[in-house]
Amino acid sequence: MSMKQLRIPGPTPCPDKVLQAMSRQMVNHRGVEFARTIENTTAKLKQVFQTANDVLLLTGSGTGGMEAAIVNTLSPGDKVLAVTIGVFGDRFANIARQFGAEVTPLSFEWGRPADPDAVRSALNADPGIKAVLVTHNETSTGVTNDLAAISAVVKEFDKLLLVDAISSLSSIDLPVDDWHCDVVVSGSQKGWMVPPGLAMVSVSPEAWKAHAAARMPRFYWDFTRAKKFLEKKQTPWTPAVSLVFALDVALDMMLEEGLASIIERHARVGRAAREGAKGLGLSLFADEKYASNTVTAISAANGLDAKKLVRTLREEHKVELSGGQQSLEGKIFRIGHLGWVTEKDIAEVISALEITLPRLGFVPAGLR
Ligand SMILES: *Cc1c(COP(=O)(O)O)cnc(C)c1O
Repeated sequence: MSMKQLRIPGPTPCPDKVLQAMSRQMVNHRGVEFARTIENTTAKLKQVFQTANDVLLLTGSGTGGMEAAIVNTLSPGDKVLAVTIGVFGDRFANIARQFGAEVTPLSFEWGRPADPDAVRSALNADPGIKAVLVTHNETSTGVTNDLAAISAVVKEFDKLLLVDAISSLSSIDLPVDDWHCDVVVSGSQKGWMVPPGLAMVSVSPEAWKAHAAARMPRFYWDFTRAKKFLEKKQTPWTPAVSLVFALDVALDMMLEEGLASIIERHARVGRAAREGAKGLGLSLFADEKYASNTVTAISAANGLDAKKLVRTLREEHKVELSGGQQSLEGKIFRIGHLGWVTEKDIAEVISALEITLPRLGFVPAGLR
């Protein structure tokens, strides 16, 4: 019997070693042993973030990390430019708005990346803008923004750059220091091969400066408390101890493979997903030049019923894919390929699609 293929953009499958780490007995989260785990995990996280900045480990999902990024660096009334290319960019903007920021959205057509020149125009148009929010990899549309180019523009204006890298960091190259990203957020259930429940956040010296003046309400997410406790190799509140054990092991596996190799593997896997889909006559939803190496979005064109396809793959092939979110519901389906994934996994997904598509009456455009 074949294993289930969980190919959604998070949660992603976890290696046995990682799962086993979570079955360990509890320890004192303020004891010597766990202090060592926090210290080691933080040091390894910095390698994956490619940063000398502080990296804080927060217990919560990725969205909690996004909220932490905002409430720790901004004050009510601050002007924020929210660059958005999909559902998660919109979410980042909404969090800022909810906490009283004056948000100027800069939206791009879904399936397309953000245009750095448009970011420059928006920053030129309003010198009062304090921070720029951007999604590195937009999971809802399968697009990776050119973060290096966007960051270069943001830093021309010396603005704070807050990055949602939840579905990219650990899988797609993001040298946090080289690209001058002030706060970068990731989440354990995406490319890290760890179950949901941890957010990792890097904080630059500029972000700490902004933090000192930031007045948005915060308690659980407060960076000052997190940093004060990290100096004692602790977290301010009881962390998800089992998930930290899991992350510690997953990071060892990652560093053993090597960050460059992991990034290269995701590039190969992403290519295999795109070429495989195109080979079946499917069309990619994302602008291919900016297509993500962690999630592939495919258009439900030519009368293809995306919901029925996802259901049939699940029921008959144990292949679990995602549909579209919000306005893309029924219009696309998505293959997640991040974390513990190889080209063989993608080949299995493609062959399940190859069997299922004709049965659902799908005829490639050229053959109609
Ligand atoms: C998954 C995801 C989120 C949300 O993370 P949660 O862990 O579900 O809160 C935010 N942004 C991006 C880009 C994501 O892929």
